[in-house]
Amino acid sequence: MTTIYQMLDLDDAVTYENAKRFGGFTARFVRFADASGRVRVGLADLDSVRPFPDAFNDLRQIVALDADALAATIAKLGDERLPLANVTLKAPIVPPKNVFCIGRNYLGHAEEGARARGEALVLPAVPTIFTKAPTSIADPGEVLELQARLSKQYDFEAELAVVIGTRCRDVSEESALDVVFGYTCINDVTARDVQKATTQWFKGKTLDHTCPMGPWIVPKEAFDDPQAVEVKMRVNGIEKQSAPTSTMIFSVRRIIAELSAGCTLEPGDVIATGTPEGVGFARTPPEFLKDGDVMEVDIERIGVLRNTVHIR
Ligand code: MG
Repeated sequence: MTTIYQMLDLDDAVTYENAKRFGGFTARFVRFADASGRVRVGLADLDSVRPFPDAFNDLRQIVALDADALAATIAKLGDERLPLANVTLKAPIVPPKNVFCIGRNYLGHAEEGARARGEALVLPAVPTIFTKAPTSIADPGEVLELQARLSKQYDFEAELAVVIGTRCRDVSEESALDVVFGYTCINDVTARDVQKATTQWFKGKTLDHTCPMGPWIVPKEAFDDPQAVEVKMRVNGIEKQSAPTSTMIFSVRRIIAELSAGCTLEPGDVIATGTPEGVGFARTPPEFLKDGDVMEVDIERIGVLRNTVHIR
């Protein structure tokens, strides 16, 4: 099968070297506002973006293309190139339904949660799945407006997010990566006191501005293996979370198999795969977000998703 890097005539060794040097990956699918404010989608490299034709105004249309149609679309890209510095990146995709999220999916995070609750560690036998509404999605760089009256415990969660490219159901673990288009970063910002007020986490997970996503989607070829990248969170430049995806309890393959069992996944669906240890509520003493804090989700071979919080 032709990979996107072959389509783009990029040498993997070169792009991997770029990834190491620039903290990102060379081929990036972006949604952006141009200088006039018009929202468009495009294919970005390290410093410029080539917009897709006007018929494409949503990356859902791009991720749904099969390999041949994607290659043909990329081959027809025009000469227009906009400097990345002159565009405003938007959350790369708005999924057709709620963002799926996996709870307690890293060993270290499951341990710290049990410790903070004074409970014995019991590892889940199946993934815990909850969701965040599309209205909670925020853009890279956007100031997250959060309300102090609703929560005193806003918390951060760095997560690798999977973008589905193929309509599917009942997918096996073996073929699970075939339905993946690519990956992006999500910060599963959580109103911890609201989350814990009931057994259903939804309200504490879905407030407006609590699902920053981006800064772009890298195609799945960016990783040899989704269980072999580092996921980090920095708050005001200080590292709070850092773990390899190899310490997930349920792998990306297993998550897709479990979630798609009897449940249709569609192109553009997004799955946040859980957060490593080091979140605010489980720290000693607990550390919750303060007005003006700057959060950075940093995932190897994707890049950095940065947002400032404004709590009023
Ligand atoms: Mg989470």
